[in-house]
Amino acid sequence: MEKKTINCEVCENHCRMEAEVEDGEVVDVAGNGCMKGYIYAQTAVADAPD
Ligand code: SF4
Repeated sequence: MEKKTINCEVCENHCRMEAEVEDGEVVDVAGNGCMKGYIYAQTAVADAPD
C-alpha cells in the first residue's frame, strides 16, 4: 500500500487529498470535499503511475 498526496484542482477549494494506491489503482481517498475529487485522484494516479 502506497500513499500519495494529490491536490484536487477541479474547483476553487483545491482540496488536499491523501490517496491510497495499490497495484497502480486508487483504493481509497481521504480529504476530498466531494466525489469529483475521488475521480480526480483516480485520473491523476492513472496518468502518473509511479
Ligand atoms: S474534491 Fe470536490 S470540493 Fe474539493 S477541490 Fe475537488 S471538486 Fe472541489
